[in-house]
Amino acid sequence: MTLRVVMLGAPGVGKGTQGRRLAAAGGWPLVSTGEILREAVAQATPLGVEARRQMDEGRLVDDRVMIALMSERLARPDTGTGFVLDGFPRTVPQAEALDALLAERGRGIDVVLYLQVSEDELVRRLRGRRECPVCMRAYNLEGLAPRDGRHCDDHPAVELRVRADDAEGAVRRRFAEYRAKTEPLVQYYEARGRLRRVAGAGAADEVFDALRREAGGVPPVTA
Ligand code: AMP
Repeated sequence: MTLRVVMLGAPGVGKGTQGRRLAAAGGWPLVSTGEILREAVAQATPLGVEARRQMDEGRLVDDRVMIALMSERLARPDTGTGFVLDGFPRTVPQAEALDALLAERGRGIDVVLYLQVSEDELVRRLRGRRECPVCMRAYNLEGLAPRDGRHCDDHPAVELRVRADDAEGAVRRRFAEYRAKTEPLVQYYEARGRLRRVAGAGAADEVFDALRREAGGVPPVTA
């Protein structure tokens, strides 16, 4: 089936983890702007050099940069039968640009999955968050730990690290950015009849089942 999904929610709510599962279940690419940016930073591409400081400080990268990046990414053929967006859009201008981009091809966003978790729980999760510096796979010592507790499951010699933007001050800034610039998207998509609210506090498998139900008809994962 064809489905174009946006994962929406506060930092640390599980958009990336759940989005990855959903994408795998439906056979769609997961398009994570955070991952694309972190890779660009690691490789010091022009995009990475431009985005690095804003990311490390917990600020959003400029709409102009993000919209250009997504326009290029969504033009690739692997998005033909749909995609799961993790981390985009994050502002109303980005959402408008996304709608315009898809409308040019007679397409649109089918569903926005809005994951909701209390702020206390979010802070706890952000503290436990780790990533693999090689493949950027995300882990969480609270619930989504790697098999040996320290190294990437896919790169057993590589020790997981804390993301630069998970440092204390940057985390506070990211929440402030989220509330000011991203939360208005709840209303944006609600007004367009696309928003589905999903409680994100339970066990990962339960949250995933709920997301799948709301996304409608995504086949169950067997792996
Ligand atoms: P994430 O992994 O989605 O939490 O993204 C990490 C950081 O990348 C964010 O804190 C922002 O600095 C930047 N970023 C990712 N996606 C966007 C976006 N759509 N707009 C602006 N900045 C973004």
